[in-house]
Amino acid sequence: MKTIGLLGGMSWESTLSYYRALNEGVKKQCGGLNSAKIVLNSVNFAELEVLQHQERWDEIADTLTGAARNVASAGADFLLICTNTMHKVAPQIEQRLAIPLLHIADATAQQLQADGIQRVGLLGTAFTMEQSFYKGRLSEQYGIEVLVPDAAGRTDVHRIIYNELCLGQIQVQSRQRYLEVIDHLHQQGAEAIILGCTEIALLIKPQHTDVPLYDTTAIHAQAALECALSSKE
Ligand code: GLU
Repeated sequence: MKTIGLLGGMSWESTLSYYRALNEGVKKQCGGLNSAKIVLNSVNFAELEVLQHQERWDEIADTLTGAARNVASAGADFLLICTNTMHKVAPQIEQRLAIPLLHIADATAQQLQADGIQRVGLLGTAFTMEQSFYKGRLSEQYGIEVLVPDAAGRTDVHRIIYNELCLGQIQVQSRQRYLEVIDHLHQQGAEAIILGCTEIALLIKPQHTDVPLYDTTAIHAQAALECALSSKE
């Protein structure tokens, strides 16, 4: 079994979901007392969130590259960045890292392609919904058309992520708002919705809507399991 490297803490609420999914996956596949081999570097999100909102991405890239290198030198065979948004600096991290990076958008796009989904709605932070680093990868590398909520929808989705979900708060009225946004995207032609922020699945679950959901945390963890348990080097 390969050792999975995690760059976590962004937020720690979703890193818990990764930790659980990876260990449950290994237990399911290997049985008994088997558990995932993991090296986790969990950062202080408060320090980085300030930099995000000041658009100081080069400093974020430097900090996360240092954290990722620590994961590699502690024995990880490959790395997951446990947040969609921070994949904005994935190219800078990847360039300076000796181990491979398993990109969250690639794992998600491959799952969408396997299911024949061509037009998708994307929920995430404003950075993820509005900038090209994520949407562009889906459309340019995989031919997937990406719809995002209107300005009011994006503002609410973003605010709820930072002010509630990253703090572990699950509120019924916020779920209602997300479901409205999801319905609107579906009416505009989205065949499915990417939960493109690793905390959203804490709020929105398949039982809350008939629209198919692609939970990036679960998909990313599943891709890591396949990599960790495959015999390929
Ligand atoms: N976990 C979130 C994401 O997947 C948001 C936190 C962050 O900005 O990194 O985008």
